[in-house]
Amino acid sequence: MAFQYILYEKIEKVAKVTMNRPEVRNAENPGMNKEMFEAFDMAAKDPDVRVIILAGAGPSFSAGHDMGSPAGVAERAKAPPRKGGSFEGYLGEESRWVFPMLALRDMPKPMIAQVQGYCIMGGCMLATMCDFIIASEDAKFSERASRQGGYSTEFFSYVYELGAKKAKEYLMTGDYFDAQEAYRLGMVNRVVPLDKLEEETMNFAQKLALQSAYSLNFIKQAVNYVQDLMGYRQAIRFGFNIHSLTHSHRAIDSSLDPRAEVRREGRASVRDVIKARDGRFQDKK
Ligand code: ZN
Repeated sequence: MAFQYILYEKIEKVAKVTMNRPEVRNAENPGMNKEMFEAFDMAAKDPDVRVIILAGAGPSFSAGHDMGSPAGVAERAKAPPRKGGSFEGYLGEESRWVFPMLALRDMPKPMIAQVQGYCIMGGCMLATMCDFIIASEDAKFSERASRQGGYSTEFFSYVYELGAKKAKEYLMTGDYFDAQEAYRLGMVNRVVPLDKLEEETMNFAQKLALQSAYSLNFIKQAVNYVQDLMGYRQAIRFGFNIHSLTHSHRAIDSSLDPRAEVRREGRASVRDVIKARDGRFQDKK
């Protein structure tokens, strides 16, 4: 199958899906998401594939959802208009992010995220959906929705990834946390030098692929089931509803949204608004 936004390769029993929009740090436009899910489906159905790697081309894994690249804007223009700021409108439209993410978590084969550089918001959704994260030393993670008057992206798995105290810290401040911190908290399996990232991730994938497909699938199901008993699925559902509320709340009170200030005050960007607001607290990364 020919893809426009991703690369798909098979190396022995490992399928590798690479987001291939390095010019926009692999920002996730609808076209790329659609292709990624087609590729995952292909890998899931391929009896020769035992393990799947998700990678990003270029210096960063993913900058999150595509909010403004020319290709992303053109795709949005073609999409049907949103139903105002209504809760129902967002609930319906954004289900397309959340439920495929759960399907990804439920894939019958282990998935490994290979993460370098920035891994932000929608990028974190993708990485944390994988069963493993192998990160390079330069990887930086963040969930910055609070800086836009929101609370989190659509898929709320952070409490399970970071623990409650740290989830609150990083969600409320919107600060970056680096690969070592993510490793310490248990979100990342391994941290490796950037120039070894591809090799180490592939070695790990090939090692897993030595086991039978049944073992891998049963272990994955068993661990995920325990997480589900700890409320994972209900938390995702609740988090998604809250997320949809933040959209409609921002539509009612635009003072919560720095993007409205960009328009109102004629500032250049959201970054400028945050910089002016946060002053000495601005993080360096
Ligand atoms: Zn949303």
